[in-house]
Amino acid sequence: MKKKWTLLSVMALALASATFSTTHAVEKKSADLIIKNGQVLTMNSKKDRFDNGTIVVKNNKIVAVGDAKLADEYSAPKVVDAGGDIVMPGMVNSHNHVPMVAFRSIGEEGVGNRLFEVFFPLEGELLSRDLIYKASIHGAIEMAMGGVTTYSDMYYHEDEIAKATETIGIRGVLGETVISSPVVDAPTPYGGLQYAEEFIKQYKNSDLIVPAVAPHATYTVSPEMLKASKALADKYKVPFIIHAAEFADEPQRIEKKFGVKADSVIKYFDSIGILDNNTILAHAIHISDEDIQLIKQKGATIAHNPIANTKGATGVAPAIKIDQAGVAMGLGTDGPMSSNTMDVFGTMGYAARVHKLVNGDQSLMPPSKVVELATIGGAKALGLGDKIGSLEVGKLADIIIVDVHAPNTFPTYDPYATIAYAAGPQNVTDVIVNGKIIVENKTLKTYDYQKDLKDMTDVYNKVKEVEQTLEFHKKKPQN
Ligand SMILES: [Zn+2]
Repeated sequence: MKKKWTLLSVMALALASATFSTTHAVEKKSADLIIKNGQVLTMNSKKDRFDNGTIVVKNNKIVAVGDAKLADEYSAPKVVDAGGDIVMPGMVNSHNHVPMVAFRSIGEEGVGNRLFEVFFPLEGELLSRDLIYKASIHGAIEMAMGGVTTYSDMYYHEDEIAKATETIGIRGVLGETVISSPVVDAPTPYGGLQYAEEFIKQYKNSDLIVPAVAPHATYTVSPEMLKASKALADKYKVPFIIHAAEFADEPQRIEKKFGVKADSVIKYFDSIGILDNNTILAHAIHISDEDIQLIKQKGATIAHNPIANTKGATGVAPAIKIDQAGVAMGLGTDGPMSSNTMDVFGTMGYAARVHKLVNGDQSLMPPSKVVELATIGGAKALGLGDKIGSLEVGKLADIIIVDVHAPNTFPTYDPYATIAYAAGPQNVTDVIVNGKIIVENKTLKTYDYQKDLKDMTDVYNKVKEVEQTLEFHKKKPQN
């Protein structure tokens, strides 16, 4: 990290422009922010790169991308010399349940089914608006400082999550949960539907938040309520997010719970009219070649969560086939209770390794491909491909700088390989979202981390009290 931020004073700018006008020099175009001397990975469709590149931002948009010369054509009150570090689009975490960070690392040993023995009892006892807000602040800080500028979420009280996300200053595609059981923000079954409508109305015109409807899964939401959820998403033209084909026995679960015979979850979606181009499928592990073609044909997209899927032993999604079929796919961490992490760098490296291994072919999922999935792929999967995900003129300015002079990132011959396999969240030095600098020289500018740590310590103390009463502790083997 050798970069230097320069903030020119108004006086200096006035002097500079006066000099130009008296000497008849070519007038520089005005901008708000210039990033120069970076290894720029644009992630545009041609994967253009500039080894000594420049990005120019005005208001909240990228107005120019190019080589070193470009920096001389503009003037801006803020200029950053990236010092040869990597400049790339902010990363997208395409599937998360951010407040579950409050429960990270509980029940990792001596538990048969974490969902039933740990998650549900903890959530039943502890969830509140207050916990959801505080945990979302904490999670959004982890993501922001780790280079994630957009994430997608499914949980309860999404308005609290939206407030926290806006406070930290990153983007969220936030899906309010619809589920058959009573939950913290909806005491009656499927009350989330009403909650979702209010949430959508509240956040429909937000700069950073895209509200969404998120029925939990096919085996927890009836066909009628799946249709009603989709109709709500369509009415407001917002994304429809759902867990899909995460478990091998989902068709049997659907039949047992709702009496509907389905030989494939994806065909079932199609048969009830909820598979189209605003449908985001989280997981999509147990799907056939035919299902992939149907997803492609309908324009639905996929959030691929390789770390959570392997840790939870649910399976390996056919990500190579999905990608080859041209289905939009992003990488997700899933909730930090399942995967313990919201680290998209780690997810990239893991995705690359696991698909090479299971397919017995080291040429698959090359570094540039996983970087694509973590940026423009995720943006497309969330329906934001025309706004974010690449560094191109006209796109919103969501940009990160990654240090390639750290012990774990130097030397870097191939920046894609460094990002995919060597770099981590700790190497992110600067983060810009919507044209605003939210992390500068590794310092979060939008929130006091000490306040977050204090609030999360209160949350931790409450969780710890309840966690110790969980049944699974009694079954732990003594050593
Ligand atoms: Zn999930």
